[in-house]
Amino acid sequence: MQTISILGATGSIGESTLDVIRRNRERFEVFALSAHRRVEKLFELCREFDPQYAVLATPDEVAGLQQRLNDAGIRTEVLGGDQALIGVASASEVDTLVAAIVGAAGLPSTYAAVCKGKRVLLANKEALVMSGKLMTQAVKRHNAELLPIDSEHNAIFQCLPSGKNRSFQELGIRKVMLTGSGGPFRDLPLHQLDGVTPEQACDHPNWSMGKKISVDSATMMNKGLEFIEACWLFDLSPQNIDIVVHPQSIIHSMVEYVDGSVLAQLGNPDMRTPIAHCLGWPDRIESGVASLDFYTMADLKFEAPDFERFPCLKYAIQAIETKGEAPVALNAANEIAVESFLAGRIRFTDIAKINAYVMSQASNREPVSLDEVLDADSRARALAVNYLAQLS
Ligand code: NAD
Ligand code: MG
Repeated sequence: MQTISILGATGSIGESTLDVIRRNRERFEVFALSAHRRVEKLFELCREFDPQYAVLATPDEVAGLQQRLNDAGIRTEVLGGDQALIGVASASEVDTLVAAIVGAAGLPSTYAAVCKGKRVLLANKEALVMSGKLMTQAVKRHNAELLPIDSEHNAIFQCLPSGKNRSFQELGIRKVMLTGSGGPFRDLPLHQLDGVTPEQACDHPNWSMGKKISVDSATMMNKGLEFIEACWLFDLSPQNIDIVVHPQSIIHSMVEYVDGSVLAQLGNPDMRTPIAHCLGWPDRIESGVASLDFYTMADLKFEAPDFERFPCLKYAIQAIETKGEAPVALNAANEIAVESFLAGRIRFTDIAKINAYVMSQASNREPVSLDEVLDADSRARALAVNYLAQLS
């Protein structure tokens, strides 16, 4: 029996996680669930999963939810705010944290769980992009486990041999191929990118996801964040990773060995597969995902990424090569830019402009504590907001 906290329980990853848990109730005890704005959904989840705690990111709705739960005879205690998220992520009762909050907001709770030696199932890639070195050092120091939910990294994890503390050379690995669909605008004439709407950007051809990651997929910033994520998770240098555009999202990533063998992980594009892999690991558990049908599957296509169409991808690779504050700055700028694009305040192509500008201002100094990471994040956000004001 694993005792588990799921932060970001009302989002797309949260929902898929709870669906896998629903199919494997005997294995999991839900300790805490968190939500940002969707109070009604959190109420329904408490009714179904009976967690000890429910956490709302915004404290003003805590009393209302607590009253409703009491009236319904549900024992769950409601907490609010960032400290409560940290508390339920790192509580002594908890074995496993599912880190499924979107963006920098998920960093403190994820880091706190790592520092308590938890098994952390990481969906919240932004947290690792911001704090890569600190987070991976803390994993080692506190004997924590960081298992990747992100489908590409989960695929790589599945294609790697087990062998902790052995280098890539010793394991005979030549390179890793990170696949990405290219999103909804892979074929759109370049001059039309200026005019695309948030609805079009969020209409991903293969995956159903939250809005922020959907826009990131359309700019391929998502693949950029994943490039950085892969460097930290698997201790890779940027030269060891190739990005391969694969529009069908059937192969979720690959590992090539020095003998020429390439191992790939395949499956239907459904996040319940990597989530179930992490939840059950090292066992395999039911996920509800249908078999891959090789008789009806579309042709699998592969191509090189187009950096002119997807400049954010280039910036992310530069950011991890530069290190210092660059990855934090790029991530912060991108969060502000995507939020503004979704709110209709800027054009799609402005996202890359804001990201490039803020990253160009980043200091070379590597943050050495979580506070320094959060400080670099705040400064980059302020720069992005200023730049935005000039754009509009
Ligand atoms: P989502 O928008 O559907 O859900 C986000 C969750 O975070 C919600 O539960 C929301 O309540 C919570 N949240 C948002 N802002 C918050 C804040 N300020 N404080 C506390 N909680 C907050 O997003 P998603 O698609 O589920 O993505 C979650 C994370 O998983 C992201 O980092 C994303 O990159 C990553 N991821 C998602 C997918 C996918 O298929 N959806 C795949 C791989 C990785
Ligand atoms: Mg991914």
